Amino acid sequence: MKDCLFCKIIKKEIPSEIVYQDETLTVFKDINPAAPIHLLIIPNKHIVSVQEMEPEDEEILGKLFSAAKKAAEVYGISNSGYRLIINNGPDAHQEIPHLHMHLLGGGKMKHPMG
Ligand code: AMP
Ligand code: ZN
Repeated sequence: MKDCLFCKIIKKEIPSEIVYQDETLTVFKDINPAAPIHLLIIPNKHIVSVQEMEPEDEEILGKLFSAAKKAAEVYGISNSGYRLIINNGPDAHQEIPHLHMHLLGGGKMKHPMG
């Protein structure tokens, strides 16, 4: 989508720290990390949020989880643990209208959430 920040990151029209990319998804470092490791895992297809996903997007979203698992292994946090967050809509403070999974790890997080 033309004016979408994350679509521009996918197409490398604006700089970012991409750590992995394939034909389905892109993984890059969050510009304002909320944990020692903070990655964003996004579909290359412009899907606004979980609420806008179509049944045919199920495979793409499944691949986001596989990428999260792989990234946790690469970053050495698969045993220590990590948090996956997808903010949807205003109450959840979704700021970028292109579905993204946050992967947070590398330190003890607050509990409970919210
Ligand atoms: P959300 O509040 O779930 O929409 O999260 C949006 C995330 O995108 C925030 O954690 C921002 O720090 C991050 N972000 C915004 N712009 C950029 C950018 N240019 N490169 C990397 N991360 C970004
Ligand atoms: Zn987009």
